[in-house]
Amino acid sequence: LDVVRGVEPRIADAITKELADQRESLKLIASENYASPAVLLAMGNWFSDKYAEGTIGRRFYAGCQNVDTVEAVAVEHATALFGAPYAYVQPHSGIDANLVAYWAVLADRVEAPRLKKLEKRQVNDLTDAEWAELRAAFGNQRMLGMSLDAGGHLTHGFRPNISGKMFDQRSYGVDPATGQIDYAALRETAREFRPLLIVGGYSAYPRKVNFRIMREIADEVGATFMVDMAHFAGLVAGKVFTGDFDPIANAHIVTTTTHKSLRGPRGGAVFCGPELSDQVDRGCPMVLGGPLGHVMAAKAIAFAEARRPEFAQYAQAIVANSRALAEGLSRRGVKLVSGGTDNHLALLDVHPFGLTGRQAEQALLSSGIVTNRNAVPSDPNGAWYTSGIRVGTPALTTRGLGVAEMDQIAELIHTVLGATTPAAGSKAKYQLDPALADRVSKQASELLAPYP
Ligand code: PLP
Repeated sequence: LDVVRGVEPRIADAITKELADQRESLKLIASENYASPAVLLAMGNWFSDKYAEGTIGRRFYAGCQNVDTVEAVAVEHATALFGAPYAYVQPHSGIDANLVAYWAVLADRVEAPRLKKLEKRQVNDLTDAEWAELRAAFGNQRMLGMSLDAGGHLTHGFRPNISGKMFDQRSYGVDPATGQIDYAALRETAREFRPLLIVGGYSAYPRKVNFRIMREIADEVGATFMVDMAHFAGLVAGKVFTGDFDPIANAHIVTTTTHKSLRGPRGGAVFCGPELSDQVDRGCPMVLGGPLGHVMAAKAIAFAEARRPEFAQYAQAIVANSRALAEGLSRRGVKLVSGGTDNHLALLDVHPFGLTGRQAEQALLSSGIVTNRNAVPSDPNGAWYTSGIRVGTPALTTRGLGVAEMDQIAELIHTVLGATTPAAGSKAKYQLDPALADRVSKQASELLAPYP
């Protein structure tokens, strides 16, 4: 850090402060974690200086033999970890992984059949008229994804996102009575809409998803079935989600981030079978910029760590903690979307406290509890202010906290929400006794102290 400080002290200070913040607050953001020292160290090295567009053994630059080794080892661990035939470890993030997958599916299902029919080898061989027809066809394809307020991600066809412009999207949601996916309604929508692509997976859905049923629906309507397992990849890796709930066994193509429950560096990956692997392999440079060799090195370390038996115990502990936290909140009268959880996260409906998600999030933050606001199904406050708070246990489970501490955390959250009042006429401002916020902050630090 002293070397960094010698160039720009503000950056060194920010790094030091970030460590302190992450140590001293209760990190309940469901998409965050603490990567191991091995992961962090593998990321800071000279691969940052190397260009390596292309794939293993087929690069657009010379001198890529060491990047080839790194990428091949990452792929070896990733395929073994998830039992996938093929892994692509270059995407720089989850959104990038989704874009690679969308592009691969469109290339496979829209572009390739046209080229074949026209007996052309590649798009550069098309006449202007044939090219115009192909471009129009690309823009005319349908996707069925989970709605944002039911827990889907904005790359699953949300209109303001590029995915909503790439595809004509329709969404499926949850049954208002149960807060859980209504598979019969999903099937009906798929039969009527006949999408090219069905996307499973979520950012804020607190339940298991039956991917076998979703695959059946996709097969029935001739759709490609993709799962974005960004949030729960750690639970797949740790064999908590198996059989009908295993995305790799049930989907045609699977995308993920590597930094959430999987506990690797910030990044993404794509998994598929041989039908799509050639297209996915061309993700860089068709969709992505040059691969980050240093991050692929850290991904290799994270995949290797997740293959150890301790990781399966970790994955089980994430869910046990999440259930304990949800039960602790429920017992104290906090309303939970779907009534509980069977994964790493729970979604609190803070409307009964008279608060927006934003007010609740800020009040908790001032009390040393880091969460994020999140829409609840049919949210009256929209995607910015929201009416929900999402809490997740991957990070605190990494530190070693267990079910007893989760109950104490439920008590702290309930105390803060109960003591917070909204400021008149505002969806953002609130009042909370600073002495109470301080007291809760201290209790949060005390809870964390044995787990540095
Ligand atoms: N997919 C899902 C389901 C997510 O929850 C997220 C991130 O929150 C992403 C994709 C995007 O990941 P990234 O921020 O790495 O692009």
